Amino acid sequence: MGASTVVGVRRITATVEAFVAGETRTSSSAEASALALLPLPRVASLSGLQARGAACVWCQTRLTIETAVDLGERPGPSGVTVFPRGCDSCVQRLAARVYRIHIANCRACLRNQPCPDRRALRSLASEGAR
Ligand SMILES: [Zn+2]
Ligand SMILES: [Zn+2]
Repeated sequence: MGASTVVGVRRITATVEAFVAGETRTSSSAEASALALLPLPRVASLSGLQARGAACVWCQTRLTIETAVDLGERPGPSGVTVFPRGCDSCVQRLAARVYRIHIANCRACLRNQPCPDRRALRSLASEGAR
């Protein structure tokens, strides 16, 4: 208990967004929320290619339109916004890890209640971002 506070705050935000967007199956907004839950390397440590979204932020593989998964805008160093992207396999691997952490810490999941984040993380972990 307590160690999950930061994750909890971000999760609540994501959950609210998912509800506002309307609760339809694996909505793309729920998926975007799940992507926002994936831990990124420090933005300051990214290479130019990674900051531009041309290479995976985790494994540095050069990305194509087919393999790139958009991770959303992130605030970068000195006020510059970066647009990190990752490859499918890294997204799946991290989503599986975040999923296991999530279900051990999320109030809704611990009580077996519906949770859009759990669903989005699980679909990311099994199918990648499609
Ligand atoms: Zn990768
Ligand atoms: Zn949950």
